[in-house]
Order: sequence, then C-alpha cells, then structure tokens
Amino acid sequence: MCTSHARSKGYPLSWVGGKKVRLLRFIYEQMHGEIPEGHVIRHKCDVRPCINPEHLETGTPKQNMNDAIERGRMRPLLGEKNLNSKLTTDQVREIKFSIKNKSDSNYGLARKYGVSEMAIRKIKKGTMWAHVKLEEEII
Ligand SMILES: [Zn+2]
Repeated sequence: MCTSHARSKGYPLSWVGGKKVRLLRFIYEQMHGEIPEGHVIRHKCDVRPCINPEHLETGTPKQNMNDAIERGRMRPLLGEKNLNSKLTTDQVREIKFSIKNKSDSNYGLARKYGVSEMAIRKIKKGTMWAHVKLEEEII
C-alpha cells in the first residue's frame, strides 16, 4: 500500500528547458529511463495526480485500461489525450449508427471516440445514452 503520494497541481504538464513535457513521463524517465514506444504511464497507487516516481510504471494503453476496469474506475482509453473527453450527442448517434450497421468493433469505436469499451457496451445495451435515438427510431 502506498501511503505517501506527491501530488501535482492541476494538469500534469510542465515546462522543462523551454519544452512542454508531460510531467509524469518526465519524472518517470528521470528515475527509470526511457519509456518504451507506445507505452503510457500507469499509477501503481491508482492516485491519478500522484507524481511519486516509485508509484509509476509503464504499460500499454490496453493494460492501462484493464487497470481501470479492475479498479472499477473507467477512464478513456489512451487517457492521456482524452482524459476529459466526453461524448457529444452527435457522437453517440454516430456510435449507435456504427453499432447498428456493425461497421466497427467495440474496441474500434472506443479508440475512435476516446472512451472505454465498457462505455460502448453500455451504449449498445442502452444503459448509457438511452435517450439518444437514431433518426429513424425517432420517426
Ligand atoms: Zn502514489
């Protein structure tokens, strides 16, 4: 169990040597060396603003998503870019359209819209965004 978390204030971006860096990645690289290509920083302690290098590890975006599922905390896949992404009604309509036409997989849709596969499944089952209907359903 981690008891000590160093927390960064606000969005974890910092200026280092005139360059904008992702603070977590910078801290990790200082401590542990290069981050493997395509990997993201994960929190072993599951405290998102925590910047304690001992609590950081790298993993694939998929592992990162699995963490979220295991911990019952959904965050968007590839969360670095989409931490705060929320779907719009139009996007949900597009997703529902894709689901209906089977034009993309859950995984594909999740990636495309920056949400979890769980979110896509919930949209599919109607436990999320049930109020958003495809045009033809409205008619
Ligand atoms: Zn921590």
